[in-house]
Amino acid sequence: MPNDPLIMRVRAALAAVKNPASGRSIIADGLVQGLSASPAGVVRFTLESASPELSRAATKAAEAVEGAERVVVVATAHKGAQEAAGGHSNPMGLQKKQRIEDAGDALSGVRNIIAVASGKGGVGKSTVAANLAVALAKRGLKVGLMDADIYGPSLPILFGLTKRPETRDGKLIPAEAFGVKAMSIGLLVEPERALAWRGPMVMGAIRQLMSDVDWGTLDVLVIDTPPGTGDAHLTLAQSKKLTGAVIVSTPQELALADVRRGIELFRKVDTPILGVVENMAWLEGANGARTYLFGEGGAERAAKELGAPFLGALPIYPDLREASDAGTPIVASAPDSPAAKAFTSLAERVASTFTA
Ligand code: ADP
Repeated sequence: MPNDPLIMRVRAALAAVKNPASGRSIIADGLVQGLSASPAGVVRFTLESASPELSRAATKAAEAVEGAERVVVVATAHKGAQEAAGGHSNPMGLQKKQRIEDAGDALSGVRNIIAVASGKGGVGKSTVAANLAVALAKRGLKVGLMDADIYGPSLPILFGLTKRPETRDGKLIPAEAFGVKAMSIGLLVEPERALAWRGPMVMGAIRQLMSDVDWGTLDVLVIDTPPGTGDAHLTLAQSKKLTGAVIVSTPQELALADVRRGIELFRKVDTPILGVVENMAWLEGANGARTYLFGEGGAERAAKELGAPFLGALPIYPDLREASDAGTPIVASAPDSPAAKAFTSLAERVASTFTA
């Protein structure tokens, strides 16, 4: 809402920040775009500038505004965007060459990126991302899986990864597991530390997972994103390679409100929605009878209502949870199980949305 008092106060504060290139205000020069404020006081805007100083000045000015609890600035100009993200360009503390690499260049061998997203935690987003990646690899594609769920990385458990990754020529080497190149933020930082990260650090971490990992040549990089919609998704959307987003939801109404928010966010940043997956859709009894624990077909209805493709429903499979906890994705450990078959057909539908 452009007339929101907080937005108006932030705009006024930003109008006092000068663009050294022109001597005019950054507002007058139109460098500030997409200014928004959430009811909780999270202020976001993009700044079309490559100058870290200018980004810092704008952030400081906005942070000083009454009611601005948190300020997230996305610097959209290409060069220097990392420093511009608030000076926290290296939150994972990696050894790094002086040159700031643009994530786009570092991903030159990656043909497609698919973000797997969900409004809430615990809906099976990571399970879907991991099994989707393995199923895509089984189709003969070169696949990477990047666990960027900063607040609850699960790839170390799902893939049984424990070793801190090695580095070669300043780049992190992803583990090879189940035919997939895998890297998890959980192997690089302690989740307790990441919990305290502010927006710019989250963005810095996501950029580093893209640019500091030796992904090599990939047909598709699947990214397990943090739940909710925020800084991580905005950062990903800046990558020119983002093919689209797969949204995972359980069927109940509460979760669906988040599906709507997720779809809106991705649309706002021009990211195609590849589709919605309904997870934990029902529980199957021994006689084949279905119990709809969370209501029936909610995610499918929401997808239809919002004009997004529906990619299918996955029931609750007790053996899927067991395989996941044991560190072997079910697509690899029991390829003939109903759960593995469901992921295989999901992968087929997802694969049809991009060119490998
Ligand atoms: P998220 O990434 O959304 O937080 P997870 O993928 O970690 O969720 O899943 C949460 C828990 O639910 C895990 O224990 C996982 O094994 C289990 N789970 C996810 N999907 C299913 C399913 N279809 N059937 C049975 N268990 C599932």
